[in-house]
Amino acid sequence: MYNAYFRCFRGCPGRWPLYEIIYTCPNCGGLLEVAHDMDALRDRSAAAWMRIFDDRSGTTRFPYGSGVWRYKEWVVPDLEDENIVSTFEGNTNLFWASRLGEQIGVPDLWVKQSGNSHTGSFKDLGMTVLVSVVKQMMSRGSPVRAVACASTGDTSASLAAYGAAAGIPTIVFLPQGKVSPAQLIQPIANGATVLALDTDFDGCMRVVKEVTKDNSIYLANSMNSLRIEGQKTVGIEIVQQFDWETPDWIIIPVGNLGNVSALGKGLLQMKELGLIAKLPRLVAAQAAHANPFYQSYKQGFKEKVSLKAQKTLASAIQIGDPVSYEKAVATIRAFDGIVEQASEHELADAAARADLTGLYTCPHTGVALAVLIKLVNQGIISSDERVVVISTAHGLKFTQFKVGYHEDQLPEVEAHFANPPIYLPADVSVVKRTLERKLG
Ligand SMILES: *Cc1c(COP(=O)(O)O)cnc(C)c1O
Ligand SMILES: [Zn+2]
Repeated sequence: MYNAYFRCFRGCPGRWPLYEIIYTCPNCGGLLEVAHDMDALRDRSAAAWMRIFDDRSGTTRFPYGSGVWRYKEWVVPDLEDENIVSTFEGNTNLFWASRLGEQIGVPDLWVKQSGNSHTGSFKDLGMTVLVSVVKQMMSRGSPVRAVACASTGDTSASLAAYGAAAGIPTIVFLPQGKVSPAQLIQPIANGATVLALDTDFDGCMRVVKEVTKDNSIYLANSMNSLRIEGQKTVGIEIVQQFDWETPDWIIIPVGNLGNVSALGKGLLQMKELGLIAKLPRLVAAQAAHANPFYQSYKQGFKEKVSLKAQKTLASAIQIGDPVSYEKAVATIRAFDGIVEQASEHELADAAARADLTGLYTCPHTGVALAVLIKLVNQGIISSDERVVVISTAHGLKFTQFKVGYHEDQLPEVEAHFANPPIYLPADVSVVKRTLERKLG
């Protein structure tokens, strides 16, 4: 039988059931990870796993039609199907960004549209796993009464939606005035208890850690490695979409560092089970205003850098003390990875440039695209390589960012690609003259 359990990421002895209320190693205080009985998973050949996953893709078969639960045996194998809370997450478009790619010098460019999801961000991939496990715990008489998280906007939207779908009460802690209006209204609409604290994300994180010491409130932040287990499927899905071929590079915008760790974990599991022979190189992209991981990388990861994150347009990654630091360092090392940063101007211009080729990018995706442009210009990524950029949220959540850009009102940004509306009287001759000028 397939089996998964928690163990200490640093290697302390001990294993704990996934249904136990435990977030960190009782011995060293470090993060846990979900470990799988890999020998059991080897009962099927790589080809057999690929066949199973291909066979489930795009179907409405519950729960395997979901892009997370398609890989159920690799995620949480012993979860009862009746406890799975799914919104058909995953299954996101791999957008062939050929026009943008040609413009910047990498024609084989793809954008993984993880924001085309139920609540508009990749956070749904992890939340389906966490909320499903909680549902199973509660059905078996666990003391959990509610699930809580600190958030820069997308985790809270996701938790609130999955909680509402399951009938489980949720509590979200948001940094006041630091999330977009769309992100604030999402958990409100889904009936969460929304606490807007007068602090930043790191301050919210400190409060939620204290509040969840009471075991009746379960912690849903990505220090809870159940989230990572769902998020790891993004890398598996990308490779599957390429008919099980590994791209050369995957670039992802990072803040708390759960996502890049998860991406690496899924890819390593594929390699271990023989589905792929080669690993891609990974790039973690940070906003220069919130760049502790970049600074650590520049010092060869000698030590963890924590800082007070400055305000950035990429608000979902405005984090100064990343929780999954150790996991992310291991990932960057295992994947011959790179950490690079982007300024406010670079991220905004990159996002606008992408939009002009048909995308509709959030500022975080802008960070990843700006970093891509840098690495191409530096000759680190070459023109014949296949590159995937992970788009982490839907641009529609960040309307103010778009409006601000096209009105050329964003601080530190010179809006080279601004395309403001033209205000005219309802006069045909004026309209015709204007169009002549526009179309040249
Ligand atoms: C959460 C989030 C990230 C960063 O993910 P981490 O796991 O915190 O590194 C990037 N982009 C968006 C839109 C997010 O919501
Ligand atoms: Zn430990």
